Amino acid sequence: LGQIIFSLFLLFALIGTFLALFKTIRKQNKLAVLQQSFVTNMTHELKTPLSTVSAAVEALQRSGAKNDPERWNRYLTISKRELEHLTLMVENVLQFNSNVRSGINLTYTEFDLSLLLREIVESFRLVSAAQIDLLLPPQQTVIWLNGDLAHLRNTFSNVIDNAIKYNHSPSPQVKISLTATDKVIQIRISDNGIGIPKAYHKNIYDLFFRVPNGELYSVKGFGLGLAYVQQVVHQHDGNITVDSKSGEGTTFTISFPQNIFPQPKKK
Ligand code: ADP
Repeated sequence: LGQIIFSLFLLFALIGTFLALFKTIRKQNKLAVLQQSFVTNMTHELKTPLSTVSAAVEALQRSGAKNDPERWNRYLTISKRELEHLTLMVENVLQFNSNVRSGINLTYTEFDLSLLLREIVESFRLVSAAQIDLLLPPQQTVIWLNGDLAHLRNTFSNVIDNAIKYNHSPSPQVKISLTATDKVIQIRISDNGIGIPKAYHKNIYDLFFRVPNGELYSVKGFGLGLAYVQQVVHQHDGNITVDSKSGEGTTFTISFPQNIFPQPKKK
């Protein structure tokens, strides 16, 4: 009997080891595919500014531009702008990547979440043709939040930016609402865009993941935004969920437990 038990034990241990090995290999394959798609995206993103700069430099080399200060200046300005864009892009990717991998250093301050959302929406309205509606608790209600202002600003901006860029509706709409009870603060960001097929809901927060559809090349992105967003929200003890149907639009809900935030200040 002892021998049978020992053999069974050995068999289970072997199966366990194989399963673990199989899981690791699958995980590494998945990561390799994601990294490959990241490299493809990145290469694609770098190509446009690089070819613009090289076209401008070529034009500068041609003798004509030398005697034409206005053209000379224009080509230099274009090159400078594209190089700045490139630098920013590379810095952003490196920053995002290291933030998400190693955790983010949060600096807590107390601020009004309604005001933050008003500011973000105001900026988006300046640059976007989408209709952006903001629904806040009754006027004058200050929703105090003790969190990292800069990272939370990036977080909401990222989700709103996605809501605008993954949208082909003739009248793109984004609705942002903020509600607060004594237990939870909730920010809901809905769009009428292309939606996310259910099968990918679990993947969208993975580093480098982008839904494999036509938008991969037509919409700029590295698949880092939601990984960063989820990290910031979790580090604030919050939660992010997605509700979406392909072709019908997407709603992201971000919630924070009210108890990690101080109650409204009595002035
Ligand atoms: P990206 O830089 O590609 O936008 P994100 O991490 O922000 O990366 O998002 C991951 C992927 O999730 C996107 O590439 C896109 O396929 C999908 N996605 C995110 N937000 C939306 C949205 N509001 N509507 C449709 N698809 C979205």
